[in-house]
Amino acid sequence: DAKKARQRLQVYRTGRDAEHLHRLSLVNDLRRAVPNGELELHYQPKLQLSSRRVAHVEALLRWRHPQHGLVPPDEFIPLAEHSGLIRSLTDWVLHEVIRQCAEWADSGLDIGIALNLSAMDLGSGDLPDVLARHLARYRLDPGRLVLEITETAVMRDAFYSLEVLNRLKACGVMLAIDDFGTGYSSLSHLKRLPVDELKIDKSFVIGMDQDEDDAVIVRSTIELAHNMGLKVVAEGVETEATMELLHRYRCDSVQGYLISRPMAVAEATRWLGEASRR
Ligand code: C2E
Ligand code: CA
Ligand code: CA
Ligand code: CA
Repeated sequence: DAKKARQRLQVYRTGRDAEHLHRLSLVNDLRRAVPNGELELHYQPKLQLSSRRVAHVEALLRWRHPQHGLVPPDEFIPLAEHSGLIRSLTDWVLHEVIRQCAEWADSGLDIGIALNLSAMDLGSGDLPDVLARHLARYRLDPGRLVLEITETAVMRDAFYSLEVLNRLKACGVMLAIDDFGTGYSSLSHLKRLPVDELKIDKSFVIGMDQDEDDAVIVRSTIELAHNMGLKVVAEGVETEATMELLHRYRCDSVQGYLISRPMAVAEATRWLGEASRR
């Protein structure tokens, strides 16, 4: 009846308000995350199948919140995008990745780093300048960096994106299309972009050792990408059976829990040191 409905609405509203307040306070906390040193990068190896070598790691952002503990990126990246904080986070990531890559190179670790850009980063024209400045400051070979951009980000404003991508590419870095297969763009769209690598989304990869359809999608994506001169990375590789299939399909690199979970920097440094001696 009406009274019960009102009560239900009340409960619903309180829940929603609480959720809303929680997000508001998280945004406020996020503003202080960079100056307070609460952000950190975890690194996940990408294994090259032909050489069995780890040539790159992907940097994945983590937020160590003083009260809530480790907050995953899927929870705070969207907040950062909606509140306009994303550029300061991206600048921090860009700087930290370049500093870390130079540090590893100095210590004899021959490893490249891939980092993630948000759709909104492509909307601000000064990103290529920031990138060039950091590269010069640390004298880093730009060929060691891979910038990962989602398919949907590029397609949001394809014309403007193309210009920013061309300017990023001119810095000498490599570009990768992330989460491929989840958007609505076609490979013919991508043909016009200055990208080097395509990452097949884990939603197709995780079940491909069980699901024939997923296996077919992955296999044909690899073939098409190769025909366009792109390297292919499969993310979300969790089983030996999946890795064997990908090897058979001539996928270039694999990434996933089977090889390693993302690791904090100290553990990643140890892991990479051991892998390079194997
Ligand atoms: P992504 O770029 O597609 O990254 C892959 C995600 O899959 C990561 O989640 C990684 O930990 C997870 N993953 C890796 N291997 C496996 C596996 O074998 N199985 C499964 N089930 N998952 C696996 P994470 O670290 O939580 O990051 C989530 C997303 O947050 C990323 O997706 C990326 O879109 C975004 N993100 C992370 N760091 C940054 C950043 O610095 N800047 C921006 N703009 N976005 C970031
Ligand atoms: Ca990525
Ligand atoms: Ca993905
Ligand atoms: Ca993603």
